[in-house]
Amino acid sequence: MARNTGRTFFNAPGPTNIPYQILRAMDRPSVDFMGEEFLQVQRDCLVGLKKVFKTEKTVIAVAASGHASWEAAMTNTLSPGDTVLVPESGYFSQKWSAMCEAFNLKVQAIPSEWSDPIDPAKVEAALKADVNGEIKAVAIVHNETSTGTCTDLAGIRGAMDAAGHDALLLVDTISSLGSMDFRFDEWGIDVAVGGSQKGLMLPVGLGFNAISDKAMEAAKTAKLPRKYFDFHELAPENGQMKFPGTAPFHMFFGLHEALGLIEQEGLEEVFKRHEKLASATRAAVEVWGSGNGPTLFCSDAARRSNSITSLAMPDGFDANELREACADNSNTVLGGGLGKLDGRVFRIGHLGDMNEPMMIGALSAVEINMARLGIPHGKGGVSAAIDYLASA
Ligand SMILES: *Cc1c(COP(=O)(O)O)cnc(C)c1O
Repeated sequence: MARNTGRTFFNAPGPTNIPYQILRAMDRPSVDFMGEEFLQVQRDCLVGLKKVFKTEKTVIAVAASGHASWEAAMTNTLSPGDTVLVPESGYFSQKWSAMCEAFNLKVQAIPSEWSDPIDPAKVEAALKADVNGEIKAVAIVHNETSTGTCTDLAGIRGAMDAAGHDALLLVDTISSLGSMDFRFDEWGIDVAVGGSQKGLMLPVGLGFNAISDKAMEAAKTAKLPRKYFDFHELAPENGQMKFPGTAPFHMFFGLHEALGLIEQEGLEEVFKRHEKLASATRAAVEVWGSGNGPTLFCSDAARRSNSITSLAMPDGFDANELREACADNSNTVLGGGLGKLDGRVFRIGHLGDMNEPMMIGALSAVEINMARLGIPHGKGGVSAAIDYLASA
């Protein structure tokens, strides 16, 4: 294989670029995980995590990826045979449904076109129709990483309240936490699921849950089996997080640094930076699409994600071919289409430790390789992104 020269433009929608400060913070010998140095780091992390989740409620971490924290959300709050309402948003909502089924939960899906955002009115109608109270939870993806669509969680909460339904609201915020606004307490969420390798800029290896009082109460009677993931065993005491085994302390040294970087920039500034880079990306795609090139996959301009953009390929052209050309010729890593979107969609991640020239570099790789492969597109997408950034 030819050597890939120069720096890598890593624009996968997760995992994301890991800042050198975080790598340095993790590059250390083992410490006593019951010792005061680590315990203090962990207490600080809990305080920082609560700010990122925007919650005063319970926050726990496990040594795992986000999938495990989905499992925790489900097994702590539900019993075999319970019905879970899953509004379809894309590949990740499907995976969540599959996990429900694996645990003998009944899935009531709300089918949708993946290009459309979840409609809160459909959630309200499904809950109103549930006169016998069979639905115990609504499981929803905040930022659907396969489609680049952001769910209106305030709208979903409003729909649940309007229906007067007391189902729990379980939310996957894996690709929005630390990159797009998420308000656990204000939006009345019961269990949120997060992971370390996206907006938090860490290696994969920590899964998070924020948990409402109502969900902690539900965990007292929910009958699905769990042990490592038990909310009541993991719930922090006196500001100290608990681990059933060895605490993943290297991850916590990294998390401490990540939360410090977010604090230094300011959480709201982090969101604004993501919005700016996403808007620049969208400006480029609009130009490409105007010349029969790739278009924005998400149909609703108001709900396009600020952490990842999905692009639909023009008919007859393979998204993977373009993605591989970007990797092989331009040392630029993009995401592929997931599930039924394989080959039809590619994804540009703009979340995590990212800046303007990195974004322009990745967009340039796409434009150069579209030209090389003879993929139709409007010329000047990168210029439009630069113009957007210069005027923003
Ligand atoms: C990345 C991602 C996941 C999977 O998380 P892992 O940490 O890889 O288990 C789940 N949901 C969404 C929305 C994601 O973006």
